[in-house]
Amino acid sequence: MKITLIAGARPNFMKIAPIIKAIRAASKEKSNISYRLVHTGQHYDDKLSKVFFEELEIPEPDVNLGAGSGTQAEQTARIMVEFERDLIRNPTDLVVVVGDVNSTMACTIVAKKLNTKVAHVEGGIRSWDMTMPEEINRMATDALADYFFTTSRVANDNLKNTGVSEDRIFFVGNTMIDSLLTNLVKIKRPEVWGKHRLEDKNYLVLTLHRPSNVDDFKKFETLINAIDESAGVPVIFPVHPRTKKNYDQLSIKPQFVVPTDPLSYLEFIYLVKNARGVITDSGGVQEETTVLGVPCLTLRNNTERPETVTMGTNEMIGDDIDALKNALANLKNGKWKTGETPELWDGKAAERIVNILEDMN
Ligand code: UDP
Repeated sequence: MKITLIAGARPNFMKIAPIIKAIRAASKEKSNISYRLVHTGQHYDDKLSKVFFEELEIPEPDVNLGAGSGTQAEQTARIMVEFERDLIRNPTDLVVVVGDVNSTMACTIVAKKLNTKVAHVEGGIRSWDMTMPEEINRMATDALADYFFTTSRVANDNLKNTGVSEDRIFFVGNTMIDSLLTNLVKIKRPEVWGKHRLEDKNYLVLTLHRPSNVDDFKKFETLINAIDESAGVPVIFPVHPRTKKNYDQLSIKPQFVVPTDPLSYLEFIYLVKNARGVITDSGGVQEETTVLGVPCLTLRNNTERPETVTMGTNEMIGDDIDALKNALANLKNGKWKTGETPELWDGKAAERIVNILEDMN
């Protein structure tokens, strides 16, 4: 079976790395799966792309479609045009997409229109929040995909409720957690550690890049000020490039919040693992903190990863500043729930995916 694997943006790379490793391991045992890796070029900044290929030992992509940035429609359209050309030249049995970025949706539409089957890794998760571009990507992808590799039973139910038959849904676990567990032995102390004299559990980590938090300057400023006033310890803030444009325009002088460049994966995980807590609006970070048992304050009103709240260490803070301050006070006083690891988030999701793909042959 010939597979075309799609990756385009930072949160995709940790999801594809273990799948590639599992395919390579299987091929040593005479598996008949071969793969071709397509990088859409949605993220092209070295700090969001190249460093992840190096650290996660992902082989060079067979092609980079060079999509680059732009509005939602510009970027999606460019990926579609380029991937259509590529797929016509390089037909495949199955296109495998991961996550919920524009590349996920764009390549799914292209593949289906060329009568090629699609499998969605991380299919079925839903925030039900149609103001999130990612939710639209998830819904459009899942409306078209043929097979779904899911991270939770809730995701299975979401798919079944839209009429997907059970034989197309495979609950395999979480490939992002495969990467986390494999790489824990390699994590690296980032430079910011020494520079700001960080110590275990005496600092927080902050990541923000969702339009709902960073596009309205006033709201963004209020959030940073509230965190700065209540944290009481350094707050390391690796700033996503989409966030940086706006952050640079705020007229604030935080005392505790320390903006830095985006960190490499191994540095970021080091920082999260040893932090007192993490404040975020990222999807992947909610999952990583749950597995690491680190308190997570999510600055969103909903999550497509409910198991991180019901079982894990995640709490939804929304955009209520008082709730944020209360949560930070609880964190300071050591009052936070301890969590459990969700079912099948055990580091073996990619192996399960490859076993299923072999049976599809
Ligand atoms: N991440 C990283 N360096 C950073 C910030 C995040 O390596 O400076 C990783 C993090 O470990 C997680 C992923 O990037 O695996 C999350 O990506 P992002 O927040 O961009 O996407 P989302 O999960 O919100 O879709």
